[in-house]
Formats: sequence, C-alpha cells, structure tokens
Amino acid sequence: MTNKANQSNPTVLRKGRAGPVSRRSRTHQVANWVAAAETFLIDLDGTLIQQAYPLDGAAALLDRLAGRFMIVSNNSADTADALAGRLMAIGLPVTGRQLVLAGEQTIKFLAERHPHCRVMLFASAAMRRMAVNYGLALVDRNADLIVLMRDSSFDYAGLSLAANEIRAGAKLIVSNPDLTHPAPGGQIVVETGALMTALTACADALPARIIGKPEPDLFVEAMRRLAALPDNTIVIGDNPDTDARGAVRLGLRYLLLGPGAGADANSPAALLELPGFGAGANPARPRNTQPERIAADDLSSA
Ligand SMILES: [Mg+2]
Repeated sequence: MTNKANQSNPTVLRKGRAGPVSRRSRTHQVANWVAAAETFLIDLDGTLIQQAYPLDGAAALLDRLAGRFMIVSNNSADTADALAGRLMAIGLPVTGRQLVLAGEQTIKFLAERHPHCRVMLFASAAMRRMAVNYGLALVDRNADLIVLMRDSSFDYAGLSLAANEIRAGAKLIVSNPDLTHPAPGGQIVVETGALMTALTACADALPARIIGKPEPDLFVEAMRRLAALPDNTIVIGDNPDTDARGAVRLGLRYLLLGPGAGADANSPAALLELPGFGAGANPARPRNTQPERIAADDLSSA
C-alpha cells in the first residue's frame, strides 16, 4: 500500500542503519546486499502492481527470486487465496501461502490472543467470513474489542457506535495505518488509517494495537514462513513510512522503488538491472536454516 507519505525522503531513514550515502556508493552497497541476500520481503501495491496491473518487470522479478520471497502487504480486505488468484490472472506467479496480508494476520492475531472476546468488526464481507471461520464472536454492541479494517461501508452510524464503545472501555485494534492507496486516474482509495483517524479523534483514544506495516507482525510472519535470517533478508517496497520504516525497526535492509530521487529503482524491471540482480548472480538455493526468533516482544498482545 502507498500513501501520500511516499513523498518523504528515504535518505533520512537510511541514517538508522548505514548513514547517508552517495548514489555511487549506494549502488555498490546494494550490489553487495543483494549478492549476500537469501530472502526477500516484497510489498505489493506500488511495488509489483498498480491498481489491477502488474508493473514493468514484476513477473520477472518474482521469477528471479522464486522460492526466496514473500509478498507482504497492508491489504486488509482480501483473503490470500482470493488475491493470489487475481495476481495469477495478471501473470504474477504467486500462491496464497506467499502472501502475508494485514487483514488475515489481524484475524489470526485475534483468534490466537483474544479468542473469547466480543469483537465488533468493521471489515469486508470476506474478512468477516474469515473471522467467523476462526471462531471469533462478532457482536454489534457491548464489545471488548473494536477491530477496524478497510470497510467500504463504514458510515456515520458505525463511527458513532464504535466511538462510544471505545469510550465505554473497548480496546481498538487496527489492521493497517495507511491513509490511502492509489486509484485509477490519479485518484485515491480511502484506507483503514483514514477511518482510524476519524475514530480516534471521536473516541479520544489511540489504538491498543496496529498489525500492518510499519509494525513488525507481517515481516515477522513472512520471515517465519521463509525460515529467514535478518542479516540476509531484504525488504523491497515503495513506501518509506511503512516498508522502509518497518524494515529499519527490525534491522532489515531495504530497497525503495518509485519515481523519487531517493529511490533505488523506478520499477521492478529497473531493479533487476542493478548489480547483484543480474542474470547468474546469486542463484536460488535450497533453504535449510531454522527460523530465528526475532522481535518476540513486539508480538505482545494488546
Ligand atoms: Mg506499496
């Protein structure tokens, strides 16, 4: 997902790990990182696709990194299997297991950490079905938890209800903080973070928990699935505030895609032309390492 924060200068973030670097030394640095990398955590919207279309080189990038990547997205409206089907239909070789999504991970978090809570869920029909399948008790009053995802039917009545529930003691859990993501014709799609902003303003309370990037949960889950190690994992994304900031929080290296001067490449195709991604470099190899437990404290319950 992307939002207006894409205009930020990613160089600022790089100070956290490697310090400001020149373009030439950055290219050299990236080549070394990529040559040493075994696993990649790749954002979806703005990195591999734009609306319903793949970006130039997206399929080639996934082919190049086959068996060594997870797609990590703040999508909170779709199931992984449904989204994988749509990606396959536009030529991107992705299975449901290779998608780590904010909505699904929020429901799994609730089922694991709050299985007996009364949950007032604002979400798509697909996410509501998943929540029921995971045994969550969905209620429309007297909730323990208000759970907010991208809900295109969120309205004044729902805002009033949720705000009063929070003021009465319910905790707020949010799938992802993005304000918007891009829509055709230069327009925007209002995202979960915009609904969260309205709700927290009315309820006078901050979320007890946010699951999506830049929080660590999605990256940690993706690394668990890959049995990935932090030192040789690279995050690829287009959003400094979610992808890059989330990577920095976990001590992961990252590459930024986009049109800005601070980006490493402006498309997946351009990324593949960087030293280190070249044909024959770092061929896929079997993974037999054990997952390293990282940032366990960051997964504490709300
Ligand atoms: Mg994005």
